[in-house]
Formats: sequence, structure tokens, C-alpha cells
Amino acid sequence: MKITHDFHVHTKLSICANETATVENYIAHAKRLGLKKIGFSDHFGAGDIPGARGFYRAHPYEHNAELKETLAAVNEPDLKLYFGCETEYHTPKRDIAITEEEAEKFDFILVPNSHTHMIMPKDYIPSYEKHRDFMIMAYGDVLNSPLSRYVTAMAHPFDAVCCPYDPTILIRMISDDQFKYLFDKTAEKGIAVEINTSYTKNMTAEQIASDVHIPMFRLAKECGCKFIFGSDSHDKDYHDFYHNADVIAELLELKESDLAEICK
Ligand SMILES: [Zn+2]
Ligand SMILES: [Zn+2]
Repeated sequence: MKITHDFHVHTKLSICANETATVENYIAHAKRLGLKKIGFSDHFGAGDIPGARGFYRAHPYEHNAELKETLAAVNEPDLKLYFGCETEYHTPKRDIAITEEEAEKFDFILVPNSHTHMIMPKDYIPSYEKHRDFMIMAYGDVLNSPLSRYVTAMAHPFDAVCCPYDPTILIRMISDDQFKYLFDKTAEKGIAVEINTSYTKNMTAEQIASDVHIPMFRLAKECGCKFIFGSDSHDKDYHDFYHNADVIAELLELKESDLAEICK
């Protein structure tokens, strides 16, 4: 099936995105790619997480809210735009790094368990086991949180960001039973699993087909999880390979009914 949404784009309001990450550019990309929905997901989270304080303090709500006004002024009848955020896992609290009051302000919310470059104790990184276990813990804590009802999707699950070694090593170290346990619960909670195409940047269709993400997503599908696709665009170039979303949808034999409600 053709994927006609992208629910993970950052604008230049995210300090890690560049000046080409604009609403205007994304609208032009959407038209070129035949997308009908764009979900804007600038970073937003609590400013007291060790390792990520400076990062999240640079994105207070008032800062991100500028986008809400920009989106409201867009007149594109064939395109639906959503004001969301990519929030964070709060390591000391073992919870989602957003309050209920803040969560209410967004159209959708993505939560990663894998920004381990910022939020995991640095001395865990050299240990594959500790790194894997941290992501499993974070994933489980997000599902168990009372705030989980606000979560639209788990962002790039188990794709350790800025990992100093091949992050797929960690995915390969998670058993099918462990994945099934987590994905059963994800499905039960009505939280979608994000298929984040950024991992496919330099991959051919053959490489995507034989990569470790596909069996992981297959397990999620078997458990009844719904999916949402995102490019994780931080500049204008991420959409150059967004056709990989269609490649993955094909490999997983996804149908409209496998997608999260918001992106249908
Ligand atoms: Zn992320
Ligand atoms: Zn992101």
C-alpha cells in the first residue's frame, strides 16, 4: 500500500533541525510525494532529565507553540496538518517526560524509548546488555504510565539514536518472547508502533527486506499493533528516501486497517 502520511517531522524550532526544516518545504514535499497528512513533532519534554536538561529547556511550550499559529494560517485544502510533539522518557521518574496539562495541548504525541545518547547513564553505553535492558525498561515504563493514554506511538522503537556502534546489534539481542510481551501490551493500550524511515537512508530495497527491523515489525503486527510512519525529517533531505515507507508497507503486507486511526 502507498503510505500517504508522515507523522514525524521536525521543524527548525527543534534545535537539532536545520533552517531547511520549514512548514513551507514540507508542504512542497508532501505534494511531490502524494502525502495527505503531515504530523509535526518537534521535541518537547521536561527540562530536568540528566543529560538532556539543556536540550529540553531550549524547547519550552511557548517556543513550540509558534508552530501552532503557523499551521493555522496554512491554506492547503488537500493536506491535513497536525501539531504534535516527540516527547521523552524521564529516566529518574521512570515515566513519560510530559505533564497531563501539556499533553492536552498536542494533536498527537510520540514517545521514544531510544534517545539513549541523552537520557541513559553514559556508562551503560559500552555494555550491549545494559543498553538493551535500558530500552526495554523505558519501553515498559511508557506503557505502564498513567500518561500512556496520551501516547499516539512509540517513536523509532529500539533504534538507539547516535549509537557509537551498529544499533541493530541491540535489536538482535531482544528475544521474540520479549518483543511479543511488549507488543501485546502496546496493542492492548492502543498505542501505535512507529516505522521510522530514517534507518533506511542508505539502504537498497533488498537490504531493507533482509534487515532486522522487518522481523521486529512483523512481530508487532502479529500482536495486533497498529502502525504509523514517520520520516524523522530534520532537514529537507529526509523525504528523498521516503518511498522506503512504501517498500516497508509492502514487505509487511500492511493494509489500511493496520494503520493507526489518526493517519487513515
Ligand atoms: Zn527521536
Ligand atoms: Zn524525531
